[in-house]
Amino acid sequence: MAVSKGQIWFLTGSQNLYGEDTLKQVAEQSKTVLSQLEAQVSAPVDLVWKPVLKTPEMIREVMLEASRDENCIGVITWMHTFSPAKMWINGLNALTKPLLHLHTQAGQSLPWSTLDMDFMNLNQAAHGDREYAHLVARTGMARKIVVGHPTEKSVGERITNWSFAAIGWKTSQNLKLARFGDNMRFVAVTDGDKVAAQLKLGMSIEQLGVNTLAEAVEKVSDAEAEKLTQVYEVEYDVAAELRAGGARHESLVYGAKIEIALRAILEAGGFHAFTSNFEDLGTLRQLPGLAVQRLMAEGYGFGGEGDWKTSAMGAIMKSMTPAGGGTSFMEDYTYHFGPGTPKILGAHMLEVCPTISGQKPRIEIHPLGIGGKEDPVRMVFTAKPSEGRVVCLVDIGDRFRIISNEIKIVEPTEDLPKLPVARAVWEPLPTLAASAEAWMLAGGSHHTVLTNSVSAETIEDFARIAGVELVQIDADTNLRAFRKELQYASAYHRFADAIG
Ligand code: MN
Repeated sequence: MAVSKGQIWFLTGSQNLYGEDTLKQVAEQSKTVLSQLEAQVSAPVDLVWKPVLKTPEMIREVMLEASRDENCIGVITWMHTFSPAKMWINGLNALTKPLLHLHTQAGQSLPWSTLDMDFMNLNQAAHGDREYAHLVARTGMARKIVVGHPTEKSVGERITNWSFAAIGWKTSQNLKLARFGDNMRFVAVTDGDKVAAQLKLGMSIEQLGVNTLAEAVEKVSDAEAEKLTQVYEVEYDVAAELRAGGARHESLVYGAKIEIALRAILEAGGFHAFTSNFEDLGTLRQLPGLAVQRLMAEGYGFGGEGDWKTSAMGAIMKSMTPAGGGTSFMEDYTYHFGPGTPKILGAHMLEVCPTISGQKPRIEIHPLGIGGKEDPVRMVFTAKPSEGRVVCLVDIGDRFRIISNEIKIVEPTEDLPKLPVARAVWEPLPTLAASAEAWMLAGGSHHTVLTNSVSAETIEDFARIAGVELVQIDADTNLRAFRKELQYASAYHRFADAIG
């Protein structure tokens, strides 16, 4: 398992009425349930057992601790026995971390022939959890309910998906984003309310002059940059003209200087996401391409043209990406309407993350044709076929909306020998026509985060935790129902925000 990204506390509810012997059994069974979950949950989190909760004071204390503890990213609750829910009110009111209600019981099967009242008294989650769930429903708090025995595969998967969402929420709450340059002139969807973003999602969106970067690039020594180009030559297939001794090697050295300077600024400022703007490059000689691609591969969020929302969503989704998975900044670029299944060719000017690549990326240099700077170095590759989704975060004025579209990443229909950028080709669900119509009805952006491994359920759980509207476009999307869903959601969110 990867390095833990936080703890999820496992809280078992009961009450003193049962007496010591039963409560001892409750504690033992709860530990067993936890170890069964540990065997199933594949997210990089530590599940932490806490003593059985028997009084309102204990419940409030553990919820306050969970809220205070930086390592705790969420809590799972389970009422092993009956735990009268008024005992939970003050504790739940104190909880600021994501909540999952696991509705389970220690035994998978009933011991029909020996089942007696002792067994009945010990195994009461069927009604104990309903009493608790009634109260949680009444609080209106965001929570996920998972039902089933801890050895069931679907239980492990659903808790894994939610655990990733809890990781994403922690990322969002602590995210610092550096904007090098402002928004691209006149572009609407990349703009938005940064104060609202911090209020809703916790993230701090900060402005850095682009010359902060340009000046730092100038200070990087040739020797240090040369050393990094040697790493490139080992890790990638570097074009001959860019290799040491090649005619254009100096351009690669400059690209390496951008990477070194950019990384140093991000690390010094505690930033985990950033933006650039090809229109606003100050004295930088190249649009950062290779540097952005390598930083994305390390987990940094990125958005082009000052797009901080896509960059932030990128950082969040990268933190929610299972080990070995791929997640990248993306842009719907151009269409293949046919023949064959209609497809979208996605790319950007340069900045696509190699974690979605199907091959060893090749470093090349080509003119950009826009922006009036020197030719930038970049990695070129094609995304590997996979199921996946593209996700965006938009500001629609009175609130944020996350839009997610299920896609099938496919091999390009033919080779693309003249295309000098990294790309992905995909078939959106339900069809290109219906997906694009739905996406545009919802006000989705042309910039997205493409992932081949953050699950749709994780995105759904993240949106619920964040209290942000989620619009999902998938194989089941029916446009007539979709239009109505947008109308209902609009009414709901305005009402909910007004009374919240
Ligand atoms: Mn763009």
